[in-house]
Amino acid sequence: MSADRVLYLDHLASTPLDPEVLDAMRPWLDPAAVGNPHAAWHRPGWRAAEAIEAARAEVAALIGARPGEILFTGGATEANNLALLGGIPAGWPAIASAIEHPSVLACLPELAARGHRTATLPVGPDGTADLDALKTLLAGRPALVSLMAANNEIGTIQPLAEAARICAEAGALLHSDAVQMLSTGLVDIRALDLAFLSLSGHKLYGPMGIGALFVREGTSLRPLLHGGDQQEGRRAGTLPTALCVGLGAACRIARQRRSADAQRLTALRERLFSTLQNGLPELRRNGSSDHGLPGCLNVSVPGLDAADLLLDLPDLALSTGSACSTGSPEPSHVLRAIGLSPEQAYGSLRFGLGRGTTEDEIDRVAARIAEAIRARDRG
Ligand code: PMP
Repeated sequence: MSADRVLYLDHLASTPLDPEVLDAMRPWLDPAAVGNPHAAWHRPGWRAAEAIEAARAEVAALIGARPGEILFTGGATEANNLALLGGIPAGWPAIASAIEHPSVLACLPELAARGHRTATLPVGPDGTADLDALKTLLAGRPALVSLMAANNEIGTIQPLAEAARICAEAGALLHSDAVQMLSTGLVDIRALDLAFLSLSGHKLYGPMGIGALFVREGTSLRPLLHGGDQQEGRRAGTLPTALCVGLGAACRIARQRRSADAQRLTALRERLFSTLQNGLPELRRNGSSDHGLPGCLNVSVPGLDAADLLLDLPDLALSTGSACSTGSPEPSHVLRAIGLSPEQAYGSLRFGLGRGTTEDEIDRVAARIAEAIRARDRG
């Protein structure tokens, strides 16, 4: 099957590289672009360093930060680990919402092993964090709190501004995994007064293998990696010029496009939901319909084995949960946290719409899914 026949609705797992991003990266993939960006004694090194600093400024501009507050990382998994493991002050507790990405949640047992108290923040039935529970957990004392801007499985957008106010009152540091938010939504670091924010290239129509961590000026951070003084020793390792330039270009384009993309994708998402619902009246929508990512629709169909269905439809690129948990026999921790039974979780499908998604694709995918499910019911 040729790749061009695949109907790609898995943009929450990964977005395609924007052709303009590729154009920006190309000169830095050419053999003529030799030069370690940290080489201080020659022009090729300076040129690469200049390109990287311009890219850092673009990343900063996307979230309203200063360039010096941006650290390039190998992706958001690393950025999340760096924020939690490197950003927590000695003796402070850590609190993370129950529906965080595994790259946040898996830091909690590691922090517990290092002597920190840890707690998970419950979420309501639509995935919104319980902020009264946050107040109770904090009890007016400082902690490192991790609350994602938007969830990667059900799309719920969190009330970050309110969470930030509660954290500020308790003297807590707030980290937000904003990986899914930034291609269609605004996160203004100054208005929210976040201490840390993570982002990833391949969720922003940029390259895979690059991400960034925002670290508020004056916030202390212990490095995870040792053995180099790059990025002021806070993240050791030679920076990949082409990937940094690609992330910078992706952030510049996202800044220009995000509000128009958000409007278009919201309309497409609602069209997809109502078309699916017409064919499958027993459908249940997971997540928040008022505060949801424009490009995310998550639904459950009673009695469906979603993984089995998708194996029968290999030219439809969808997901049954998060790609990161594929292969795990456990139902999605996100769907379980919002109260779904394991059976309901196994019967859930995630549609990730993106810049290239068309009305025609939406109609085709809805018709094929509804038909395939009805055929199973008949069989
Ligand atoms: N956080 C969220 C919300 C994600 O969706 C992902 C990717 N699935 C990550 C973190 C990890 O990002 P990366 O692939 O850049 O390591």
